[in-house]
Amino acid sequence: MYKAPRGTADILPEEQPHWRLIEQKAAETCQLYGYERIDTPVFEDTGLFARSIGEETDIVAKEMYTFEDRGGNQVTLRPEGTAPVCRAYLEHGLASRTKPVKLYYLSPIFRYERPQSGRYRQHHQFGYEAIGDGDAALDAEVIDMAWRFFASFKLTGLSLQLNSIGCRQDRPGYIKALKAYYADHLARLCPDCNKRYQRNPLRLLDCKKPICTRIAAAAPQNTDYLCPECGEHFSRLTGYLTQLKLPFVLNHRLVRGLDYYTRTVFEIQPEGEEAAQSTLGGGGRYDHLIEQLGGQPTPAVGFATGLERIVLNINKQGIAVPPPFRPAVFIAGVGGEAVAEAIKLAANLRGNGTGVIHGSGGRSLKAQLRQANSLGARHAVIIGEHEVASGTVILRNMATSEQETVALKDLAARLG
Ligand code: AMP
Repeated sequence: MYKAPRGTADILPEEQPHWRLIEQKAAETCQLYGYERIDTPVFEDTGLFARSIGEETDIVAKEMYTFEDRGGNQVTLRPEGTAPVCRAYLEHGLASRTKPVKLYYLSPIFRYERPQSGRYRQHHQFGYEAIGDGDAALDAEVIDMAWRFFASFKLTGLSLQLNSIGCRQDRPGYIKALKAYYADHLARLCPDCNKRYQRNPLRLLDCKKPICTRIAAAAPQNTDYLCPECGEHFSRLTGYLTQLKLPFVLNHRLVRGLDYYTRTVFEIQPEGEEAAQSTLGGGGRYDHLIEQLGGQPTPAVGFATGLERIVLNINKQGIAVPPPFRPAVFIAGVGGEAVAEAIKLAANLRGNGTGVIHGSGGRSLKAQLRQANSLGARHAVIIGEHEVASGTVILRNMATSEQETVALKDLAARLG
C-alpha cells in the first residue's frame, strides 16, 4: 500500500472547513489593507532561491527539493514565497505601478526537513509583500496586519517578537562584536553552532539547544550596533506599534533564517515552551533583495505564516470553525419510476442553486434515509410510486422527522 510521502499530509474533507476559513480570513485581511493576490509557479530556477535566501542558510544548504528536469534545467520546488514574488515583480514590470506594490499569496512550500508536529516537508503559507517603500510606517502596517489576521480567529496568548538586524553597513561591526563574544564560548557550543560561527554567525543567536540559548542570552545586541538611520527607523517603528497598541517584545535573539533580511525582523509566536519552534509566522524588511535579483534598489517588507500551524493552534485553543458542507436536500426514490423522477427533480433543484444528493442503487427507503442522516442533509424528499402518480413528494425534516406531502410544483419554493 502506498502512503503519502513522509512529511506530507492529506487534507481530508472534515479538515477542509479550517482551511477554507483561513483562506477566507486571509483574503478579507488583504482587502482591508489593499493587497492583491498573486500566484507564481510551484517550481522556479534553482538560482533564484540560492541567490536570494543565501547559500549558507539551512534552506539552501540542506532543505531544497532541487532536480534537473528532462531539458537539463536545474529547478527547485518553492521553499519560500518572497523570492518568487520579487521575481514576478521584476519580470512583469510591476515597478511602474504606484508604490508600494502590495501582493499576497497562498501556496504550498517544500522543505526537506525532519518531520515532527507542525513541521512538514510540504506545508502551506499565506504571505504578503509590500514592495517599493522604505518607510517604517509600512513595517508597522505589515505587523499590524499579521496581528489582525491572527486576532480574526480569536487566537489568544500570542506574542509579537521584534528586533532590528540593521543594514549592510551595520553588519560587519556587529558580526565582529558577536564573534569576539562567542570566541570565548566555542568549546561549549553545539557542533552546528561551531560551524555557524565560521559561516553564518548571526544564526548563532537562534540555536534552540539549551546551552547555546544560555550563551546567546548574554551576547551583544544588534540594536546597539545600528547606524543612526537604522536606529531612527527602528525607533519610529516601535513608536507606531505603541500607537497601534501592539504589545511587542524586544527579542535580541531574533534573526530569522533567511539572508535577505535587513532592519526589521519579527515573529508571532504562540504561548508555551516550544513557542520558538512552533512560530506561527514571521517576516521583516528586505531592502536589497529586488536589487540583488537584478532590479533597481527597492525597499520592501513582508510576512508569511504557515497554514498547518494556524490549524494546529485553532484546534489547540478549541476555536469553533464553520461546520463542513452539508447538502440541503437528499432525494430518496423508491421504485423504478420514482428513481427516474428523483434524477429529474435533482437536476431541477440544482438548477435553482439547491445542493442535492439522490439515493441510488435500488436501496430501501430506510437505508436511503440513514444515508441522508449521515450526510447531514437538512431535508429528505421521498418519492414513491404513489407520489409519481399524484405529482407530489413527501418532504421530511431530518432534524424533527416531521413529514408532509407537498405538490411537486411547490417544492422549490418550500425549500428556498
Ligand atoms: P519561514 O519562511 O521559515 O519564515 O516560515 C514562515 C512560517 O511558515 C513559519 O512561521 C511557520 O508557521 C511556517 N513553516 C515554516 N516551515 C514549516 C514547516 N516545515 N512545516 C510547517 N510550517 C512551516
